[in-house]
Amino acid sequence: MTSPHLIALLPEVSAFLQRRHGLWIDGGWQPASAPADTPVRNPATGDIISFVSDASADDVDRAVCAARAAFDGPWRAMRPADREKCLVRLSELLETHGEALAQLETLNQGKSIHIARAIEVGASVEYVRYMAGWATKIEGSTLDLSIPVPAGARNLGMTLREPVGVVGAIVPWNFPLMIALWKLAPALACGCTIVLKPSEDTPLTVLRLAELTAEAGIPPGVVNVVTGHGHSTGAALTCHPGIDKLTFTGSTPVGKQIGHQAIDNMTRFTLELGGKNPMIIMDDLDVPAILPGLMAGCFFNQGQVCAAASRLYIQQSAFDRVVGELQNAMQALTLGSGLDPSATLQPLVTARHRNRVAELVSRAREQGVEVVTGGQAPTRPGYYFEPTLLVNAADDNAAMREEIFGPVITATPVRDLDHAIACANDTRYGLAASVWTRDLNAALSAVRRIKAGTVWVNSHIPVDPSLPFGGFKHSGYGREHGSAAIDAYTESKSVCIPVF
Ligand code: NDP
Repeated sequence: MTSPHLIALLPEVSAFLQRRHGLWIDGGWQPASAPADTPVRNPATGDIISFVSDASADDVDRAVCAARAAFDGPWRAMRPADREKCLVRLSELLETHGEALAQLETLNQGKSIHIARAIEVGASVEYVRYMAGWATKIEGSTLDLSIPVPAGARNLGMTLREPVGVVGAIVPWNFPLMIALWKLAPALACGCTIVLKPSEDTPLTVLRLAELTAEAGIPPGVVNVVTGHGHSTGAALTCHPGIDKLTFTGSTPVGKQIGHQAIDNMTRFTLELGGKNPMIIMDDLDVPAILPGLMAGCFFNQGQVCAAASRLYIQQSAFDRVVGELQNAMQALTLGSGLDPSATLQPLVTARHRNRVAELVSRAREQGVEVVTGGQAPTRPGYYFEPTLLVNAADDNAAMREEIFGPVITATPVRDLDHAIACANDTRYGLAASVWTRDLNAALSAVRRIKAGTVWVNSHIPVDPSLPFGGFKHSGYGREHGSAAIDAYTESKSVCIPVF
């Protein structure tokens, strides 16, 4: 059913959806060993919109071999300035095809077209440009060494940074294009080649991206895309001995499994995992003024963001005020398709995920947690869930402990900043946090004492290509973005030369 409120799809998007998608290996489409009959759905309706392939271990092996040949061949031989040019051209193509990519992402992932345009595409274009610049700026160091023998000898030391090799990248379903580019762009800037596996639920923009990499002049085999299920295609990639580095974004349990597998092959790895991110709100702020920031921190992309706030700790004296304002703002959200520009909350990604969120909320209700607003999956097509505010959840309730990854938040009163920080840190996760106050000393004290990879002050959610991103504790291993990403896709080689 087409609603008059929905934006019209570009012909480029309709044509792409009608294809049965193979695997992108060695610079072109190749059929998988099995027919391309895995359905891809539109979360706003549940309708099938396209079909992709389920890559076998043999298919994954072909992709890894293509990536290895490109790494040892043309890509390794290319000058850094030429790699930079390829990435700049890719950013231009992403911009040129931006509206089509945004529509494709909204159709497949469910997110608002506004977010798809501004973040999934817009921020990604800037990310690729930022990383393109790194290709020509990768540096080592020179050292005047003090090796004591033979007496009187002098030695010059150097460190070189070399590409780590063939990268296996596992990409989740919440920001499929953006997170693929968070991995692809620094990998290619450093001279690595890559095999990407998007989530089986949201593979479409990454498949389109593969075509654009060829148009950008990136040689065959440098970028390969295999689609399929995590437990089969994903596992074949993470166990493959030809992979030199694994980069994974997803849940903590799967991340841990991948970390163990990586160690078996001594494969380098970075893991960007889940969070149960606290938001501390002190009583010295004008609540209506900060409300849009609080709402964005909690409900951006329906809360399907690893860094989204899900545990709110509100100073007792402001608790009723903040909860009241949040309740009103949440009740004013309008559920609708991502293709409806007037809708302010979109569906969750799959029926499976929506049911998981619904079950967690219904279990919390049974355990005596008060549902202030929301709490239900509305009866309508698509995978919607109402924005939900829970109060009076015990510290050990699953709603306070487990990553929900949906439009569900808990609000808990706290006495003061010390109490808030103790609660904030009482979690196995440590991805992100925010503190909201006008008191600079309080803010800086919180920044130092909160155990999380990112702490925002008076905002919650923005990321930047130059600012390292990753988690403490069970939220990950290593960092993405900035120079940290360059370190993660290179190996350091030490050189020692006697000087006569
Ligand atoms: P997973 O961690 O299972 O999936 C993330 C990615 O890993 C997907 O591409 C998935 O493929 C792949 N994968 C799954 N199992 C394996 C494996 N054994 N080997 C290699 N790759 C694998 O997350 P889910 O999609 O199941 O979501 C569950 C929860 O994870 C969410 O509710 C949320 O809490 C969290 N999550 C966190 C994200 C983050 O940004 N940190 C992103 C997504 C989810 P496929 O989808 O094809 O199975």
